[in-house]
Amino acid sequence: MRCEKCGAILEADDGYEHAGQVLCEDCYLDIKAAPKVCDPWAVYTAKKEASQNPTLTSIQEKILNLIREKGEVTAEEICRETGIKEEEFRRNFAALRHMELARATRKGDEIYFTTFSS
Ligand SMILES: [Zn+2]
Repeated sequence: MRCEKCGAILEADDGYEHAGQVLCEDCYLDIKAAPKVCDPWAVYTAKKEASQNPTLTSIQEKILNLIREKGEVTAEEICRETGIKEEEFRRNFAALRHMELARATRKGDEIYFTTFSS
């Protein structure tokens, strides 16, 4: 089984269904966190902004620092340590992901957030 969006190979129970498509965790999280992730212009703009002007909001900086410091963190930990709401985290994490600074990964039943290159 493959993710219909990015083509990643999925374990039998790893697929997420969204609008009739089977997606990998990353693509599914992207859709849930940021409905506009499929817009190539938005991703292009985010990347361009990140390379030209790597200024993050203070929340994004806090999230990224925590991820860099700990390697892998859960959403609960991030929300607890930074004092933001989960919804706020999801929105800001989507921005970090678009800038290719952070990504989500799954271990067992837990979703962890980690740096893009690790
Ligand atoms: Zn995918």
